[in-house]
Amino acid sequence: MATLLQQYERVVGTEVIDQLWQLARLLDGMHIVHINSTRAGGGVAEILHRIIPLKHELGIDTTWETITGDADFFQCTKLMHNTLQGNRIDIPDLLLRHYENINTENATRLKGLLEDADIVFIHDPQPAAMIESIPSRKGKWIWRCHIDVSSPYRPVWKYLRDFVRGYDASVWSLSEFAQRLPHPMYLIPPSIDPLSDKNSDMSEEELANAYARWEIDPDRPVITQISRFDRFKDPLGVVRAYRLVKDFIPVQLVLAGGGATDDPEGEEVFNEVKASAGDDPDVHILLLPPDDHRTINALQRISDIVLQKSTREGFGLTVTEALWKGKPVIGGDTGGIRLQVVNHHTGFLVNTPEGAALRIRYLLKRRDRLEEMGQKAREFVRENFLITRHLREYLTLVVAITNENRDRIELL
Ligand code: UDP
Repeated sequence: MATLLQQYERVVGTEVIDQLWQLARLLDGMHIVHINSTRAGGGVAEILHRIIPLKHELGIDTTWETITGDADFFQCTKLMHNTLQGNRIDIPDLLLRHYENINTENATRLKGLLEDADIVFIHDPQPAAMIESIPSRKGKWIWRCHIDVSSPYRPVWKYLRDFVRGYDASVWSLSEFAQRLPHPMYLIPPSIDPLSDKNSDMSEEELANAYARWEIDPDRPVITQISRFDRFKDPLGVVRAYRLVKDFIPVQLVLAGGGATDDPEGEEVFNEVKASAGDDPDVHILLLPPDDHRTINALQRISDIVLQKSTREGFGLTVTEALWKGKPVIGGDTGGIRLQVVNHHTGFLVNTPEGAALRIRYLLKRRDRLEEMGQKAREFVRENFLITRHLREYLTLVVAITNENRDRIELL
């Protein structure tokens, strides 16, 4: 059985793994601790589940702990999450005091570990206040923010900022997401895991099953958007673009997403999309369970082009996933899509359904360009958006922050 590092080496090459070893050697003797609020569910846990074992294989002494809390605590942190992302709701003082108490309890439980660690990564707002309870900390503390704090509800950000400013550094996914703080701020964009169910290679048989299961004709082009049914993802614009193409090319459209039933607005958007598609047998609107990663993988792979016509987007992991599968992406000219869709190289940036339709027609007519862009797309993700790059940047950050007074650091 190959080690994890060997498995990644097959995907990213020896040089990338060698760089990780070079950085890891500089961290010899250090103890790194990661703290978040859950081991299961959500992107943060998913990334940590991969990054921690990789660190262990690299010989880096790393511990991952999660904080525990009750329903009120998680209600409070959910409110924090939503308000930091823009909802204007005041969090009752009582809940904030409870948030602080739970942080103190967890800090007390983990006191020895936190006091002695050389580096402590605190992920997101849930455990952010623990720092207050560890005044005699020996190491550097880094707050890793995974959420979009570009236009927070100010009172809640001001409250959280009082804790975060005590950290030695913070890490943000995109510059647009960050707020000003009195310490070094680092940008580390998200990544995908090429070995996960969502992204690993699939057999011809699995792909054939996907065509059959969803009654998609393998002999005609397929365009796809995978997204929650959310207005910002502009699914109606996607249907309109499809229609504009359909007048010229016998294309099929797949719109796949989940979560519609427990989100009132999602259900409304889903129904609008259904209505706009009418009884067109070439429009496949699929409601998927949240953990159906293999289906998403297959749908992205059987597509000729993937769309992400959002009018607002954080990073857009669906874009990374599609590019990794060698598909040009036609994406809305917004947010993190701009980092990934290099116009005319890995796809096209568009602002209207008409613009999207024009680009779809162009690529379906120019198969040579479609192939070329797809190859560039995959290499672009290999270079920039895989988990190994994410880990390299974490390690580089640790090297930088623990060698602040040196003007030269040699990698051996
Ligand atoms: N996704 C999923 N099922 C769905 C729709 C989306 O698993 O029905 C996944 C998708 O593959 C991606 C993530 O959820 O990994 C969505 O992340 P993205 O950044 O694209 O958008 P968000 O939903 O966070 O706005």
